[in-house]
Amino acid sequence: MQNFKYLTRKERKEILVSLGEKSFREKQVFEWICKGASSFDEMTNLSSSLKERLNASYSFDSIKVEKVQVSKDGTRKYLLRLTDDNFVEAVFMKYEYGNSLCISTQVGCNMGCVFCASTIGGKVRNLSSFEMLDEYIMVSKDANEPISHVVLMGMGEPFDNYEEVKGFINLIHDEDGINLSLRNITVSSCGIIPKIAEFAKDFPQVGLAISLHRSNQAARESLMPIAKKYKLDELIKACKDYSQETKNRITFEYALIDGENDRKEDAQELKKLLSGMMCHVNLIPLNKVIESGLEGSPRQKAKSFCEELTRLGISSTVRRSLGPDIDAACGQLRKNSTC
Ligand code: SAH
Repeated sequence: MQNFKYLTRKERKEILVSLGEKSFREKQVFEWICKGASSFDEMTNLSSSLKERLNASYSFDSIKVEKVQVSKDGTRKYLLRLTDDNFVEAVFMKYEYGNSLCISTQVGCNMGCVFCASTIGGKVRNLSSFEMLDEYIMVSKDANEPISHVVLMGMGEPFDNYEEVKGFINLIHDEDGINLSLRNITVSSCGIIPKIAEFAKDFPQVGLAISLHRSNQAARESLMPIAKKYKLDELIKACKDYSQETKNRITFEYALIDGENDRKEDAQELKKLLSGMMCHVNLIPLNKVIESGLEGSPRQKAKSFCEELTRLGISSTVRRSLGPDIDAACGQLRKNSTC
């Protein structure tokens, strides 16, 4: 049976019209979906005969919350079971400006960054736009709190699944449903260059974060295999073009690794690379991923690195790491939380 929840709005409308319904019926169903309804029977404004016919021909399956871990700081890590029994993780975080949800875009990841748990075992499959929306719907239902911001920074590489990511942004922004502001969405990429220009054209209001981590080609390559294909100088050029086109300030993610990229020279090299750009550097001491053997910089070193960058005129902050006690921090998400 086809899952009625995971159809496009157009497909759903066509089915409902073919069943003799007025086209506004789809809007009602979409509203129920976005409110987290778990069956046709809950949709009180549909006639019982329509519900019967839908029940006879379509399933109504959702992502299921398999496990929730709650951190001391209020962060909640969700292990989510997809309808085909694959798993992804999503992380609910509390900030002063509101609640934010970090969602996954793929089961696993093919990018191979040496410091990241999500890439261990590679990519199993892409998520569909409907599944990404479902992560939002099912987590907000469980958390029972409004979620005002979404970051595509969970498991997976959004630009390796761009068509579905595009579909997701349009779905979550749809005014008949969640109606999330485009300004409250951020996409994070390891730097798949051709997609950056496309993204600037498609969604100039959506934020972009680029995972940089090192400030020279050789060092970046040793941490991030994708850097061999998409070179650092070309990446920086693409980021400059992006900023010019969208007038947005890019965020660069920089995980501080003890003794690797947290020295004064690294800050100076970073300054050279980024000077003149409209950007912000988000520093985060590397979170522990046992397999990598790498250690995060101690808090004090991170602070000094940030001060050095600021002194050099590069806007930067050390990001508070949320949820490290439950392995919910950046780079700690896995397809199977039991490993
Ligand atoms: N693939 C996308 C989004 C997922 S990763 C990307 O690369 O941007 C989200 C962020 O967490 C990225 O900046 C990533 O480099 C960072 N990250 C991965 N592992 C980490 C770790 N162990 N500690 C800190 N940050 C990490």
